[in-house]
Amino acid sequence: MSAVRVEQVGKLQAYADSVAGCTRCRLAQGRTQVVFGSGNPRADLMFVGEAPGFHEDKQGLPFVGQAGKLLERLLAGIGMARADVFICNVLKCRPPGNRDPQPDEIEACESHLFKQIELIEPTVVATLGNFATKLLSGRPLGITRVHGQEQEATIGSRNVLLYPLYHPAAALYTPAMLKVLESDFARLPELLGRALVPVAPTEPELTLVGATQPAEQLGLF
Ligand code: URA
Repeated sequence: MSAVRVEQVGKLQAYADSVAGCTRCRLAQGRTQVVFGSGNPRADLMFVGEAPGFHEDKQGLPFVGQAGKLLERLLAGIGMARADVFICNVLKCRPPGNRDPQPDEIEACESHLFKQIELIEPTVVATLGNFATKLLSGRPLGITRVHGQEQEATIGSRNVLLYPLYHPAAALYTPAMLKVLESDFARLPELLGRALVPVAPTEPELTLVGATQPAEQLGLF
């Protein structure tokens, strides 16, 4: 690893250490621990879920339950493993009873996610479900409308390819949704390759995608 990379990895660890005692919102009171995220600190591909659940809160790792097993299976299908990617959530602490994240909690926590993206420097950020998709796209469009549609996004100082996917927890119990998730997932290698294409010398800026922007918002998934 180059010196720059080693330095960035050190910064991510330092940031994780600083977040471990976070008390920015009420979720600090009920958590066992902050679930910062895990995986390759220099990953090209990052996944952002919703929030830790019961098992994640106990183990301190994201996606360790059934949804995590499905995510691992989907990754294996494209020749990747957890260790190749970085996995985290919009919220770093478990909401009581696994209820939905509340707007003030998302607002309190979002800069942790932005900092992670800045330090990890992924090329593709796959958002799992509505909460991550709406936060990082800055649009209110639901995941049913936008899944599988890559879009260029600037997050903090970083230009990334945002790729909304159904949340694996939702797909676990809905076979039709699982099929869609599998076929959306299968495009990830292409997107990773595309995002890495260098800027042509004559072009002022690399345009990565021309995703359509649907105008309506539907339900949760
Ligand atoms: N586990 C997580 O870590 N995040 C989710 O969004 C769901 C399960």
